[in-house]
Amino acid sequence: MPACADTLVAEFEQLAEECRMCYQCGQCTSSCPNGRDLSGGPRRLVRLVLAGEIEAVLASDDLWRCTGCGACTDACRMDIDVAGVLTRLRSLERANGALRCPERSAAQVAARRLDRHPRIDNLVFGATMAARGHVPRDLAGAAEAGFKAATQVLPRRRGAAAAAARRAADTAGPEAVTLPFYAGCSLPQDGALHALVHEVAAGFGVLLDEAPGAGCCGHPSRGTVPSYFRPAELVFTACPACDASLEKAGVATTPVWDALTGRARRRGLAVRAAAPAFVPYVGCLVERDAALASLAAAAELAGAQIRLDFPTLHSACCGALGGMYRGATRGSARLLRFAAGQGAPVVTPCVLCRDNLRSAARQLKLRVPVYFWPEFFTAHCDASGGCDRCPTT
Ligand code: SF4
Ligand code: SF4
Repeated sequence: MPACADTLVAEFEQLAEECRMCYQCGQCTSSCPNGRDLSGGPRRLVRLVLAGEIEAVLASDDLWRCTGCGACTDACRMDIDVAGVLTRLRSLERANGALRCPERSAAQVAARRLDRHPRIDNLVFGATMAARGHVPRDLAGAAEAGFKAATQVLPRRRGAAAAAARRAADTAGPEAVTLPFYAGCSLPQDGALHALVHEVAAGFGVLLDEAPGAGCCGHPSRGTVPSYFRPAELVFTACPACDASLEKAGVATTPVWDALTGRARRRGLAVRAAAPAFVPYVGCLVERDAALASLAAAAELAGAQIRLDFPTLHSACCGALGGMYRGATRGSARLLRFAAGQGAPVVTPCVLCRDNLRSAARQLKLRVPVYFWPEFFTAHCDASGGCDRCPTT
């Protein structure tokens, strides 16, 4: 760790001034979806800032295990922007520290990539991380993701999503609606899943018009690169991290699953669920109450039971703090054990959470299926307005 330069000391003094009203109540740490897995949570970092413990702050892995969800800022009764303080501390650590943790490396690798390319490439990302000595915690999961990403370049697999979108457009009736869609980085690297999203949306009578060349959303776990994507109109998203980051960049967004559920309700579509009951998991980056309500609305339409434990469990960290899976968290382990006890699968609107929970289930040897929203809910709409499920009004 370098000796603290005057500018670094001055910036810490500024941060301490902004945190001076902190009375260490701990609301920030108790609201943090990662709180149980951070060594002291945001409260400890604020305390260290107030104490002028610059080196201890910059040496804390917690800085890089924060997903930037903002729950701590919302919870602070003294109006301290705790999440903003942590973001600035990460910038200071990046400029002055020498921490070696996978989350920091992940942010650095991603930021370098995004300086030159619009999207993260999971294969390149994984290889670079491995070359830096950060071996994936779930080798089976990493191999599966790598295989899927690698097969995207095969001629038979390339363009599967575009072909699914064309098929949907060819078969859709005149009453289908078209929504502007932002797919993010992860979904396009799994061609079959990407195609499934188009197919499932078409079942609800919705065609997804993907923004050509839309790049990374600019999520903080990807480093310091701002969103490349600045549309003027509302866009529909398939990823809570994209949703949160684009909103921060001033883009109006709505989860596409909400649009599908709303469409099904308005048009009286029959929605099907893959199991009679499920445990919801919404992740830390969404509007949590709204996301749980949205899953409950889909469940009601499908006649499926939604099994809830205490509310925050369903948004506790999935195990990818800062964008790198680092093993089951206390929250994800408890969620999966709850689902196992219920004999029900987990359903999530986030594909990254799905993959992390699958990794955690493998690690914990729990036979709990984990579904991404479009793998669990489907509908059929011929979009003609003429079938018995689809009133024309
Ligand atoms: S919620 Fe606010 S006042 Fe309470 S410990 Fe956290 S930063 Fe300090
Ligand atoms: S921004 Fe979210 S993850 Fe980060 S410390 Fe605050 S509550 Fe925890």
